[in-house]
Amino acid sequence: MKSWSIPVGRLLGAELRIHLFSLALLLPIWMKQQLSHTTPDILRSVALMLMILGSALLHELAHSMVALRNGIPVRSIVLLPLGGVSIMDDAPFPPRKPDPAREIRIAMAGPLLSLGIAAAAAVMIQAVIPGARLGMRPWIHPASLLRSLVWTNIFLGLLNALPAYPLDGGRILRALLSRRMDYLRATRRAVTIGQGFAIAFFVLGMYDLWFTVVGLFIFVAAQLEERTIEFQAVLETVRMEDVMLTEFSTLSPADTLEHALSKAVHSLQDDFPVVRGSSMVGVISRQKILDALRFGGNAYVQSVMNSAYDIADRSETLASAFRKITAKNLSIIPVVDGEHLVGIVTLQNLMHSMGMLAESRKLQRQTEEQ
Ligand SMILES: [Zn+2]
Repeated sequence: MKSWSIPVGRLLGAELRIHLFSLALLLPIWMKQQLSHTTPDILRSVALMLMILGSALLHELAHSMVALRNGIPVRSIVLLPLGGVSIMDDAPFPPRKPDPAREIRIAMAGPLLSLGIAAAAAVMIQAVIPGARLGMRPWIHPASLLRSLVWTNIFLGLLNALPAYPLDGGRILRALLSRRMDYLRATRRAVTIGQGFAIAFFVLGMYDLWFTVVGLFIFVAAQLEERTIEFQAVLETVRMEDVMLTEFSTLSPADTLEHALSKAVHSLQDDFPVVRGSSMVGVISRQKILDALRFGGNAYVQSVMNSAYDIADRSETLASAFRKITAKNLSIIPVVDGEHLVGIVTLQNLMHSMGMLAESRKLQRQTEEQ
């Protein structure tokens, strides 16, 4: 999907891209003029298109600014004809815990700003041109750019407030749903409702071409969101036993640091479980072994290892393991089955397996659909 949008610059630390589908805006603008038997005015048509895109950009920037103020970096903003998609971080690592209140704040910013611009523009236009009839139809037309400015922003505000995920209203809907069910189910439900809206708009397109553009907009925005959803699906459904490393080295608390280091040299692991007999007693990282040797000389693993660690059950989901990893700043989680150590999951191995899992699931689904 990325190849369908072209980069045009950077704003607020995010990459700004324009989706080629934005050019489709010219279509209804053009056809409307044809239908009203006026010769299309190229300059005004392009000006109208740029005005719509400019309004969409301001709308997206409102989302981005609220996101930034809530500590969420925006990776890229993709402008679509009737709004856009601010990609916060398409695969945040480690993922953030969903926060419905924060999501609602970010989602509301866009429509509120659009409606605010519409109101401010209407007031200013009335003040400068007392006779301006802003309510007259057609609302959006190259022949009356000022009136179009007001209505474009009204529509941007109202349209994006529709509960059709991934439009803003749909995000708010998901946030509300996620208070009653898990995040993945809430997302799936919001996506289904969004698809319903997209289809409805395609059908309505028989009456007005603008509806088709709206339907396409929801559809394309949903495509841009897909990766994020895929990632969440992986988090909520994959279990520790699916990704854990089952072949790994362990250390004994009675090992000396020098011995531990020579073992670490022959392993790809950065972190090691420390095991006495069959029970876990601690964890230690390669770096910690090195630091201890450098500053304190040779000693036993027992005296340096970290005995405040967290474990995960083999049937635990990745989402819950992630929460443990991020909450305590861990780099390794031993996976247990009852009392027995059966595997380890490290940040390092997760980074690799997450990407692979998301891909393989996508492939699986594609073959299922065929
Ligand atoms: Zn929006």
